[in-house]
Amino acid sequence: RAKGEGRSRYRIFTPEMDETVNFRKTIEDDLREALATGKGLEVAYQPQIALGGGDIVGVEALARWRHPERGCIQPSQFIPVAEQTGLINQLGDWVLREACGVSRRWPDLFVSVNLSPVQFRSKGFAERVIGIVGDCGGDPRKIELEVTESVLLDEEGGTVDALRMLRGAGFRIALDDFGTGYSSLGYLHRFDVDKIKIDRSFTQSLGQGSKAAAVIKAIVSLGHAMDLTVTAEGVETEIQKKFLHTAGCNEMQGYLFSRALSADQVTSLLGRRSSMNAQGHRGISSLINAS
Ligand code: C2E
Ligand code: MG
Ligand code: MG
Ligand code: MG
Repeated sequence: RAKGEGRSRYRIFTPEMDETVNFRKTIEDDLREALATGKGLEVAYQPQIALGGGDIVGVEALARWRHPERGCIQPSQFIPVAEQTGLINQLGDWVLREACGVSRRWPDLFVSVNLSPVQFRSKGFAERVIGIVGDCGGDPRKIELEVTESVLLDEEGGTVDALRMLRGAGFRIALDDFGTGYSSLGYLHRFDVDKIKIDRSFTQSLGQGSKAAAVIKAIVSLGHAMDLTVTAEGVETEIQKKFLHTAGCNEMQGYLFSRALSADQVTSLLGRRSSMNAQGHRGISSLINAS
């Protein structure tokens, strides 16, 4: 470490680099503490909407961290640190336990949980997931596990066996951020997955004279040919929604419908949904806009 090698070496760091190193170290220490005390960490749940009736069918569990001094820290900042330090194993277990616990309050929704490739490298991972869900009294068929394409490319370390075991136990598997990663379509026929989530970069490039529309149509027809559910992420506008509807996406997720909510907010949303169902409701947008 340059810092320990005297002042002259220390100068090779720019202030920005020094700040980055300090930030990482602080995040690591503080995250460890948050996991130990349970303070500041939360799980938020973003609704997933079925295309037909516009009804909420599931929620994605997303980790949230309210740091005592720094305020809200984004997952894009703390998840990579958690992955590099191995803390993702503890964090992942905790999110799964939380998500399982609340999913019992929402019997007609599925709950999606993100899994990092790092978690798959720990020995006995699938057994641990099955154990956690069992301990929480959760139903694997109500839990969807989101993995990125890189997980499928990681042929070593029993990742593939772990995925098979999890799917065999009843969990649904979704491929997250589809179309980004290495996107070798070759693996799709070798692994059983249930869902493809089209990355939000495609959704958000729609209508900008890009080729995103063609890519989305191709992903949807590939997905449907393989009997998979296709979800679009990052839907923010009515125009995007209309396109995705016409293209045949089965589900959507995005700020147009809802941001990630607290568990209590989801419960009250579902309550309003059932009272409006009696009158023939117009989908989640009308519920959210009424709140
Ligand atoms: P992801 O799994 O692809 O989750 C979707 C992300 O897109 C979430 O960001 C969500 O808030 C955001 N999003 C949803 N709709 C929209 C939209 O309409 N527009 C825009 N601009 N963004 C939208 P978030 O919560 O910041 O999480 C970022 C990433 O961090 C997640 O991407 C996931 O890869 C990772 N992550 C979050 N929680 C966990 C966790 O518990 N475990 C693991 N391993 N990763 C997690
Ligand atoms: Mg996800
Ligand atoms: Mg992701
Ligand atoms: Mg995603």
